[in-house]
This record gives sequence, structure tokens and C-alpha cells, in this order.
Amino acid sequence: MSKSRSRSEQLYSEALQHIVGGVNSPSRSFKAVGGGAPVFMNRAQGAHFWDVDDNRYIDYLAAYGPIITGHAHPHVTEAIVRAAQNGTLYGTPTELEIRMAQMLKEAIPSMDKVRFVNSGTEAVMTTIRVARAYTGRNKIIKFAGCYHGHSDLVLVAAGSGPSTLGIPDSAGIPSSIAHEVITVPFNDLDGLKEALDRWGGEVAAVMVEPIVGNFGMVMPQPGFLEGLCTLARQAGALVIYDEVITGFRFHYGSAQTYGAFPDHSAIEPDLTALGKIIGGGLPIGAYGGRKQIMEQVAPLGPAYQAGTMAGNPASIAAGIACLEVLSEPGVYERMDALAVRLTDGLRTAAERSGVPVTINRIRGSFSVHFCDHPVTNYEEAQLTDSEQFASFFRQMLDLGVCLAPSKYEAWFLTTAHTDADIDETIAAAEQAFAAVKS
Ligand code: PMP
Repeated sequence: MSKSRSRSEQLYSEALQHIVGGVNSPSRSFKAVGGGAPVFMNRAQGAHFWDVDDNRYIDYLAAYGPIITGHAHPHVTEAIVRAAQNGTLYGTPTELEIRMAQMLKEAIPSMDKVRFVNSGTEAVMTTIRVARAYTGRNKIIKFAGCYHGHSDLVLVAAGSGPSTLGIPDSAGIPSSIAHEVITVPFNDLDGLKEALDRWGGEVAAVMVEPIVGNFGMVMPQPGFLEGLCTLARQAGALVIYDEVITGFRFHYGSAQTYGAFPDHSAIEPDLTALGKIIGGGLPIGAYGGRKQIMEQVAPLGPAYQAGTMAGNPASIAAGIACLEVLSEPGVYERMDALAVRLTDGLRTAAERSGVPVTINRIRGSFSVHFCDHPVTNYEEAQLTDSEQFASFFRQMLDLGVCLAPSKYEAWFLTTAHTDADIDETIAAAEQAFAAVKS
């Protein structure tokens, strides 16, 4: 039986009067899953949240990634409260910022120097500015379907053809800006080579999500990142890894230091953008990279970037506390084991109902694609069944399991999920897949 969500519906109609589209980020709307009122959450604890009608949900959204220690983790909450009691914003440097920068550098050694900002969008946007300042070039190569925040330059889609100059993906972005962006399919080194052969002398940087989180979870094929780095450097371009999702997601480090890649040093980027998890649930972003490149940034160099809120004590304290939790032994292994059990259960449930799915799992994160083919790039992700996803999403919601309302988003395990949550989710999925089939 459907849960009552009458209070959410009421609040949504009120929100529509005051907040554009009723939501403060379009990904929160239910537009991609048939429309209607999104669920308004009221409180959250561990792996669960409760909506304004007091329905309980198991959370696999994890706020699109940051909430890896679960909601209101006591260690993180305590750090935030302590920071707030001492004043939330000084406009001066603090010792905590140094400690956090040290933690990031130790975990991600390619970051010789770090700068904190307030969001993933800002972090990525600034890496591009720094790369342009350092190389004296303007163009950027990105990969189709990778999301890098909402700054003008990266909100650009592929034109037609394997490697193309971009077309704006949003109104309000001049085509002159989109023309500085070249889009290539992910996992396609030939496409990258073609783009670099044509425009290489103008390319400041090749930017990539080294493990994709924005058209489901997609691993780079063996050799892709090594090839990308080699080709970019041969062309005199920098390599930027957008690790806003992947930073501290799979292990205590980032994709570039993840043990799945045989030779880490070969795939180190010049610049890295971080966000999400490193703020422990408060707003943050960070970027960093090789010393000579980072010295382009003001006050040392000519590339300007600033921020009133940057490095604020609350976000930094929450981030440090979150990393402390993640550095405890066995934390990632536990999420990994739960995700294995969950994906096995989902696969079996789907098979039993005769619904074809492809599940891409990378440690404690995975995506369920409604299709019978592999998903290795954006085009393949686009070909998956949107209606089946929408039906599955709504069934799961009614059964008390909250997923992101888009077929392109991942499921995230947290340190707070338990075996009981996994059992409950598998039982819900059995019903949901059966309903999708009928
Ligand atoms: N890069 C990636 C890979 C992301 O997934 C996101 C957000 N989903 C961003 C950048 C932008 O981060 P923010 O929403 O914090 O601006």
C-alpha cells in the first residue's frame, strides 16, 4: 500500500510559490521519474531518514555522496557543535585549515598545495582557470556525461560525432564559451587522440571523473587513464581529475590512489578537485596539485580566486571529523561487504522477475542500469530504460527505500548501514522488480 505523503504534497505546493521549481537543486525534483511532489525529509539519523509524514526510509542517496558516515554521526556532530560554539566564520586563517590540508595531502600525494573553496563547482571551475593560467591556452577537453558542476565552461554537451566542440547544455551560456570545450566519449582513447591531434596546441587541460559517478558508476577501462595522461601531456595539456565524488569514496584516498590501478604514479593528475565527503556534510570544495601549477593562484600568482566562506571552521571541523571516522580500520571493507550482499540480492531479485539489469559496483557504491548491455560510457547509460527505472524508484520509495530520482545517479552505502538494512532493501527490491515487470 502506498505511504501517505500528504504533508510533502502540501509543502511542495507551498514551495512552488516561493522557490523556483520548489527545489534548491534540480536533481531533487521528481521530474525524471514522472513528476509530482518530492519527499520532504524532516530528520535523519544514521542510514535512515523520516519524512514530514513520519514515514521512515533507508537512505542510499547519502545526499548525493557526502554523507558517507551516515546522518548525524556523533563524532562529526560533536565537531560541528564545538566549531559553532567558537564562532563559525573568522575571515582569518586558522590552524584547522592547515591540519585538514595536511590530511588531504597525505592521502592524495599529487596535491602538493591545496586551496579550500565552498563547493565542487567552485573547485572544478578554479582548476580550469589555473590550468589556463599555467599553460596560456584556452580550450578544455571533457568526457560526455561527466558532470563537473554548473560553471559555464563545463555545462556543455557533446555535439554530434565522436569528438566535437561543445554546444551549451544550458541557456545563458554563450556559444563562444561552449566553443572552448571539446567533448569526447568516456573510455575512448581514439576519440581523445583525434581531438588532441586537431586542437592539441590550444588545449589547456583534459578533465575527467577518473571513476565516473554521474552516469551511474563506471570504471575506466584498463589503460584508459594511463593513455589519457600520456596523450594529454604529449600535447602539453594538463590533466585535471574531478574527484568530487570519488575523493574518499572507495578507500582512504581518491581514485588516483585506488588500488585497482596497477601503477598509480602513471595516472596522477596535475590538478585535483574535491568536494562532498571532505566536508562531512557541510559545504566545501578543495583543489590542489603540483606546486609550480598551484603557485599560479593569488596571492602568489596571477590567477585570482577568493572566498568569504572558504575554509570556514565549521566545514573544516566537520571534514576532519569525517576523515577521522573514515581512517579507522575496516570501515571501507565493511561498506564493501554490504554492497556485495546488496547487489547480489538485487541481481537475483531482478532475474527472478525477468527484469534485465546491469549493475556496476565499485566497492560501496553502485548503479543499477535497466538494460541488458554493459554500461561503459554515457551513450550506453542513455540507452537504459527510463520508465522501468522510474517505476522501480517509486515502488522502492513506497516500500521505504530512498534512491536518487534519476537513472544516472549512484547508490551509496555508508558506515551506518547494517545487515538489517540490506535485508530490508532486498525484500523491497523483490516486490519492486516484480511490479516493474507487471
Ligand atoms: N563534480 C562532480 C564529479 C560532481 O558529481 C559534482 C556534484 N554532483 C560536482 C562536481 C559539483 O559539486 P557541487 O554540487 O558541490 O557544486
